[in-house]
Amino acid sequence: MSTSNSHFEGRMLVISGPSGCGKSTLCKRLLEDDRVQFSVSATTRPKRTGELDGREYLFLDKEQFRARVSAGDFIEWAEVHGNLYGTLRVPLEEALAAGKIYLIEIDVQGALQLKALGVDGLYVFISPPSAEALRERLEGRATDPQDVIERRLKKAADEMLEAYRYDATIINDDLEKAFRELRELVGLDSGARCAEGE
Ligand code: 5GP
Repeated sequence: MSTSNSHFEGRMLVISGPSGCGKSTLCKRLLEDDRVQFSVSATTRPKRTGELDGREYLFLDKEQFRARVSAGDFIEWAEVHGNLYGTLRVPLEEALAAGKIYLIEIDVQGALQLKALGVDGLYVFISPPSAEALRERLEGRATDPQDVIERRLKKAADEMLEAYRYDATIINDDLEKAFRELRELVGLDSGARCAEGE
C-alpha cells in the first residue's frame, strides 16, 4: 500500500481501479460492516445476470438519465464504455447525515471529478499486481466478449497513470491482505472513529 494521506477525516470513501482489479469484491467485503453504506449509482448499461434494479445500480434508459442530469440529481456523471453512469446526490447527503461511511465505487474520471469539486473524502485506487494478471482475471471471469475485454485493458492502462492522484493505492495481489489494508486505511479497525463522526 502506498499512501500520501492516510488520515481519514471525511466519511465518503471513493474507490476506483481498472475493471478486473478486484475492487468490487473488496467493496462487497467492506459492506459486511454496517457502518459502511454502498452508493447505488444510476446507469444506462444493460442489467447483468444476477443484478437487481436498485441494488447494484438504478437502471435507467438514456432519456431518463438525461432528465436526471438536467434536474441536477447527480453529483457527478460520466460516460464509461459507451454507457452513462452517475452518482446521485440525495442518498449521499442522507448517508453522511446519518454518520455512515458512504462507499462510492466509481471510475477514475468520476473520482477525479469529485476531487475537483472539492468533495471531501478518502480516495483509494485499487491496482492489479500486473497487466498480465489483469488480462487473466478479465478473461477468466467470462462476463464480457473479447473486444470489450481489449477495450477495458486499454482503459486500465490509462487509468493506472492516474493512480498518483489518489490518497492511497492498494495493490490487490492477495485479496485478504488487500482487504486488511483497506479496513485499516478507512479506520474500521481502530474503533468507531469514522462511524461516530469524530
Ligand atoms: P460496470 O458496468 O462494470 O459495473 O462499471 C463500469 C465502470 O463504471 C466501473 O469502472 C465503475 O466503477 C464505473 N461506475 C460505476 N458507477 C459510477 C458512477 O456513478 N459514476 C462514474 N463516473 N462511474 C461509475
